Formats: sequence, C-alpha cells, structure tokens
Amino acid sequence: MSDLRFQMVDRAFRKRPVEVAVPEERPSEYFAKKVFNREKMARYLSPEVYEKMVDVTDNGARLDRAVADAVADGMLRWARENGVTHYTHWFQPLTEGTAEKHDAFIEHDGKGGLIEDFSGKMLAQQEPDASSFPSGGIRSTFEARGYSAWDPTSPVFIIDDTLVIPTIFISYSGESLDYKAPLLRSLKAVDKAATAVCHYFDPQVRKVTSNLGWEQEYFLVDESLFCARPDLLLTGRTLMGHDSAKNQQMDDHYFGAIPERVAAFMKDLEIRALELGIPCKTRHNEVAPNQFEMAPIFEDTNLAVDHNMLLMSLMKRVARRHGFRVLLHEKPFAGINGSGKHNNWSLSTDTGVLLHAPGKTPVQNLRFAVFVVETLVAVWKHNGLLKASIMSANNAHRLGANEAPPAIISSFLGSQLTELLDHIEASDREDLFRLDGKQGLTLDIPQIPELLIDNTDRNRTSPFAFTGNRFEFRAVGSEANCASAMITLNTAVAEALTDFKERVDARIPVVSDKLADTAHSAAFHAIIDVLREDIRACKPIRFDGNGYSDAWKEEAARRGLDTETSCPVIFDRYLDPESIRMFESMGVMSRSELQARNEVKWDIYTKKIQIEARVLGDLSMNHIIPVATRYQSQLLSNVEKMRSVFPPEKASALSGRNLLLIEEIAERTAEIEKQVEELVEARKVANRIAEARERAVAYHDTVAPMLESIRHQIDKLELIVDDACWPLPKYRELLFLR
Ligand code: ADP
Ligand code: MG
Repeated sequence: MSDLRFQMVDRAFRKRPVEVAVPEERPSEYFAKKVFNREKMARYLSPEVYEKMVDVTDNGARLDRAVADAVADGMLRWARENGVTHYTHWFQPLTEGTAEKHDAFIEHDGKGGLIEDFSGKMLAQQEPDASSFPSGGIRSTFEARGYSAWDPTSPVFIIDDTLVIPTIFISYSGESLDYKAPLLRSLKAVDKAATAVCHYFDPQVRKVTSNLGWEQEYFLVDESLFCARPDLLLTGRTLMGHDSAKNQQMDDHYFGAIPERVAAFMKDLEIRALELGIPCKTRHNEVAPNQFEMAPIFEDTNLAVDHNMLLMSLMKRVARRHGFRVLLHEKPFAGINGSGKHNNWSLSTDTGVLLHAPGKTPVQNLRFAVFVVETLVAVWKHNGLLKASIMSANNAHRLGANEAPPAIISSFLGSQLTELLDHIEASDREDLFRLDGKQGLTLDIPQIPELLIDNTDRNRTSPFAFTGNRFEFRAVGSEANCASAMITLNTAVAEALTDFKERVDARIPVVSDKLADTAHSAAFHAIIDVLREDIRACKPIRFDGNGYSDAWKEEAARRGLDTETSCPVIFDRYLDPESIRMFESMGVMSRSELQARNEVKWDIYTKKIQIEARVLGDLSMNHIIPVATRYQSQLLSNVEKMRSVFPPEKASALSGRNLLLIEEIAERTAEIEKQVEELVEARKVANRIAEARERAVAYHDTVAPMLESIRHQIDKLELIVDDACWPLPKYRELLFLR
C-alpha cells in the first residue's frame, strides 16, 4: 500500500460509531416537529384562516392576499419561537437536487433600526436571479426573470435557522422551469380523469390522489477513502478500479446485520427525517457491499417527491457527520449492483378506496380491473416515453446490465391477476353474467384474496411490476428526482382513463344509466366491452418471464416495444407526436416546454460525459502512468542488477517474469496514452457540434465507449503494479471498510 493510501485506510479503520443524540420523546411525538403542518396551522392561525388554508390545500381553492398575509404572520410567529432568522423559496430546477437562496426576515424600520417582517407576498412569490439555471432557451439570459411561487400543498418546514418554503419555478411567460410545476399539473390531470371513471361505480367520489412510496438505495463510503479518489469526488462514481476478489458473490450483505457505524448514521438520519415529517419506516442492507436502503411510508405523490429530495440532501449532511460520504450515483462501482429508487405507485379516492387493490365484491373487482388495465394501456402506449422519463447518463449504466431493470419497459402481473384479465377477455359479455338463484343476474368476476395476491412470486427483473395493491416502477434511478417518472406515469394514466371514459360513454345512450350498480345496467355492459378491447390491445406490455434474457429483447422488438438503448436517442421519445399530444391534451406541458426540457437533458448528458472524460484523462496521465512507470523502472533496475551478478543467459532466465511485466506495462501505458489523446480529439470534434442533440449523440457514440476501454487498461495495470505504489484506494477498501 502506498503511504498515503495506508494513512487513509488506517484512518477509516480506526473510526468508531458517532454518538447520536436521541430525543427523549418517542418518534410519534417528535414526528413533524419542524413542519408547519395542520396541527401548527390550527395553533398559529385563526379558525377562519385555518379553514381557508384547508380549502386551498384540499380543494385547490384560490389563495387571496389577505389569507396569505395572515398565514405568513402565523408562520413568522412559529419560526421565531424556533430560533429561525431566515426564509427561503426552495425549488427543484432541471439540474439534480434543489435550489435555495436565503433571505433574513429583517427590514429597516425607518428609524435607523431593524424590524422582522414576513408578508404574504414574500411567502407567495419571489423573483430569484435565475439566469444560470438551465431553461433550454425558454428564458434567454437577458430576460433572466424566473418566478418561484409557493406550493401550499406541501408544508413549509425548518432547516437549522431557515424557514423553507416549497415552490414551483416558472418563467416570466409561465413555462415551467422545474419538476414541481408539471408534476402538480399531472396530478390534477389524473385526479380529474380518475374521478370521472370512479363515478361509474360511486358518485360520491370527489378526489383521486396519486400515491408514491419510494425506496432509496445508496452506498456509504468512508470519507477519507472517498477524498483520495478524485473520480468519486468529481463524478460520483469510480471511473476505474479492478474488481475486489470478494464482492457480492456470497449474497451475505443483503438483509445482513447493519454495521455499527452505519447503524448510527441511519439512526441519526431517521431522527432528522422524522422531525421533518418524513415517515421513515424501513432500513436494511442491500445486495452489494456497503449498499443500503431506506424507505418511508407512502404519501401523496407531490409530498413524497419533496420528501425524497429533502431526504437526499439530508443524507449527504448526516453522512459527513459520521465520517461517511453517501453515494447516490446509479452506478458507483462496476461489476456489482447499482442503486435504484423503486417508485411504488397507486391511486386512491377521498372515500378511502385504493383503486389498484382488489375488492371484496365482483363490482369492486371490476373497478380494480379497470384501473389496472388502463394503467397497463398507459404503460404500453408510452413505454418508450416512460423509459425516457427515467433515463440519464448515470442510469444508463444500470439499465440493461444484468442486475437492474432491462432497458425495455414491460409489466409483470403475476398469475392471479393474469387469470382475472384472461377470464374477462375470454368470456363473452353474456358469459360474465350468471344467473344466481336469489339475486337474479350477477357478475362473474373471480374473487381475489387481497392478502394473497402474488406477494409470493415477485419478478425482480420486471421494470413495472404489480405488487398486490400498487405498481412498482423499478427503473427509476437512485439520484433522480422521482417527479420525472411520476409526471409521465400520471399523465399517461390520465390520458388512458379519459380515453376509456369517452369510449364507454359513447356506448351508453342514456345519461342516467351511467352508474354500474347492477348487472342489468348499461354502464356495466359498456365498461366490460371497452375493458375487453383494452385488455387485448395492451397485451404486448405484459411479460412475466426473465427480463434479462436475449430472447426477450427479440420478442419485445417483435411486440413493438421500444428497445433503444442510447440515452440521448431515448430522449427523442419526449418529442414524438403522441407524447406531445398526450402532454398537451392533459394540460401538463406544451410542445415548447418539452422541446426546451429536452435541450437541457441533452446538455446535461454531454456535460456529464465530458467531465468524466476529463477526470479520466487527468488521472491516467498524472496518477496511473507515472506510478506504473515508476514500478517499471524498479523492475528494469532489478533486471540490470541481475545482469551484473549473473552470466547473461542465466540473468535473462531469472528475469523472465520481470521482463514480461516490463513489456506489459510499456504496452498498456502506451495504449492508455494513445487512447487519452484520441479521447481528447473525440471531445474536440463533439464540442464543435452546435446542436445539443447531435452533440450528446456524439458524446454517447464516440466519447463514452473510450472511457470503458481506457479503464480496461488501467484495471489490468492495477493488478500487476506493486500494491505498495498504487495511490488510489482499491475496490476492496472502498467496499468493505465501514
Ligand atoms: P419491498 O418489499 O418492495 O422492498 P417496502 O415495504 O420496502 O417494499 O416498500 C414498499 C413501499 O411501497 C413503501 O414506501 C410503502 O409505503 C409503499 N406502498 C405500500 N402500499 C402502497 C400503495 N398502495 N401505493 C403506493 N405505495 C405503497
Ligand atoms: Mg420494493
């Protein structure tokens, strides 16, 4: 081990778990302590203002100025009691992560002193100088104005000394420049479409909510080792590193005992997260060494997205307190599992019905079948677009590798649900109604025991699996903003439900017959006819087999599913006519917004690969080649010395291995040098391309593959160069020290 590496490893090895300050109260008592939730609103707002706020958050009522002022007043009082001095509008730009700019509450009082002030206007809207956030050309730099506007459906919270206000971020002309604005529009669209379909079954339903329960995977790496790896520091992943002899072969990490330092980190994180209202529930070791997972209880999608963004930034802070760095990158290490963020998704009504859960009666199960099938229709119609919604330069490493969802979107239903759909499809309309002695006609839809449904034979290779009372979208990347996937999924389902309802309504001549309450009703017959049509149409998306097999790739192509694997080309799906039509007709995004956002996506892709290429070039030239050459010189001087003590023939015979090593090092370093030059050249060529899409494609086709081939040479050198000179912490150290 080199001296520096030894010091880092030694430091990591000696670290002990950090003491966590555990509150005296129980988790249920300190939960949401730092959130201005309903309970705080009831305490700090007048009853009238409280009622108005409930109307705003629950029913989307307009917020007038006087109410905003009163709310701001209450918030300021609460904030001051908690030692808060600043406030910030917190938003989710199209880059990764979140953005914030803090302002103090202070204002001049006109008498040379200061007062603390916080008005409805400050709460509701701000104009951050946002010229350096990506906008894909929507907001040219001279028209730098972007507005952040309060999202009252996600409660305000406190971080340290700052009141944090969740906001959307839009341009002067109203186009979205963030994830939250289109997310809120998609939630509205799916609410409207799903509520209308629910009315066939229950006219009382007033609102349908989209639920999201994410499961966040991550790696922890000791901070001293992390800092000795410039690639991790700058790109979030290792650009080189030979496999550790032991990695995840033994499957001994998954669900294993949580290492002590990690357990302390998790405890600390959970306490902070619970105080911020994130309902942390599950924690465990993941498959790869030093890989872990945390999952809260599911929430309304908008809140769940905010909570995930908040949790990711919290993780980074808390990890440092424990001498760790958290790696959220989708593929920090080659050869072992990457990290994803399963998005458990479902719809539910304000009457307490989970629409993706089987019910107790045949009618409830018909409703269940409708929501499942229309979800499948959405996923089938827009499978390429859904893939685009989870695609990124980082996630591209994960998809299609034999450990994560394949790069083809399909859906696993399990045997019971498959039987139900097959039954509806195969029976004639008349067959589905049976003559029952007492009740006359009844609907022949098989019962499904809610608890038993396919929780047993889960298919881990499926990117969009039905898991009992929800679908699990597994292709989402660990570092991604879940909103991207949720915008597309909710909009696609809204479209499918809208279309379903139009076709059903067209078959019901009399409006008053629209309730599917008895087997005689016209609505029943119409629903079953359209449902059967859709079950047939969306069949290509159903796949319960092994998603990793080559046979599936061929089969999927035959079925007309999207099998593209190039990240920048996959982004094209956003601009397909049917995608634009979907987003526009559902009122979620306009063509120009979609175009602008794609510009940003291509640009981010290019920049990521560009940075990786630079870092790898630098490391090759100033870390790897010098070290390999130094070792080679040692070998050479050994060979020379052998010649000075032995006769030439004997000396050569004795130096055989060293001579081979000298040659191999010479060849590999020469190859690295040559490829780094080519890499620089390929970048120059790509950089000259003006168009963002073509530039990203060039980076994908020419630059990215070179990263792999240079790495291959470096990893071979790592195996032969004396460990005593190797400067970079090796995989075994990064993965097993904790
Ligand atoms: P797994 O067995 O897939 O690892 P977990 O229990 O770790 O499942 O996490 C599942 C996530 O799904 C949790 O966030 C949970 O709250 C969420 N979830 C459960 N039911 C639903 C539902 N109907 N809709 C959305 N999310 C759900
Ligand atoms: Mg899961």
